[in-house]
Amino acid sequence: MMLKGQKVLITGGTSGIGREIAAVFAEHGADVAIMGTNPDKGLVAIQEIEKVRENKEQSVIFERVDVSDHQSVKQAVTKLLTDWKGVDVLVNCAGITRDKLLMKMTEDDWDTVIDVNLKSLYNLCHALVRPMMKARRGKIINISSVVGITGNPGQVNYCSSKAGIIGFTQSLAKELAPRGINVNCIAPGFIATPMTDELNDEQKKQILSKIPMAKLGSPRDIANAALFLASNLSDYMTGEVFAVDGGMTA
Ligand code: NAP
Repeated sequence: MMLKGQKVLITGGTSGIGREIAAVFAEHGADVAIMGTNPDKGLVAIQEIEKVRENKEQSVIFERVDVSDHQSVKQAVTKLLTDWKGVDVLVNCAGITRDKLLMKMTEDDWDTVIDVNLKSLYNLCHALVRPMMKARRGKIINISSVVGITGNPGQVNYCSSKAGIIGFTQSLAKELAPRGINVNCIAPGFIATPMTDELNDEQKKQILSKIPMAKLGSPRDIANAALFLASNLSDYMTGEVFAVDGGMTA
């Protein structure tokens, strides 16, 4: 019960890592709002999260929002703040890939990945930081990637967005530290989710050869790290990048 009574907003909470973070937070007593663009996935996620929540009074909400759209995010967050009277924890987890070699990458491939993966942090944090500052408390957890640290061929758009998340985290952490708000990021390695299901067997073999633990991580591995960062156990940590990657970047 590490998050009893906490109000948590998780982007990308309809699938994979984000959905698991939402489930683990609900198991630990949090009220949970998830954002995504696909209402069918949202409905399934809500049903799964409701099954594991600690208590039936906890709210589990789906908001259909494109996180790259500044106005839509602002409207949805304003509504949530009215209903909940505040948000204690924000997890920026929504993300996409559009992998191609730079030579073949279109302007739209570049802009869409940067907007969904990185501009979304600006949109969400811009809408939420003021009330968190007033409350003089809050936790912001951003999901980057190990490839934001190492780079990866065929992913200049994705790796740039994930490296940008690290710079964003470190800068905002310094801005908000005097206000009692922690801003950290997690850099997952390769985690078994719908995103990595798209990899073929040869790609998976290549990846496994680079992981000292010789296995993909699970969404729960990331959710456990997020739970620690959302809880008061991490109160003296801010601006950090936590690699959860089976030793890839060790
Ligand atoms: P996933 O299963 O494909 O989930 C992606 C989530 O992002 C979905 O909930 C999706 O919701 C949401 N999303 C995508 N575009 C959106 C938009 N425009 N507006 C709102 N929500 C949007 O992927 P995952 O593997 O769990 O990845 C989650 C995060 O972890 C991503 O940021 C990813 O870059 C990062 N990560 C993953 C791995 C890995 O190995 N899996 C490794 C490192 C980092 P809808 O479909 O409902 O829009």
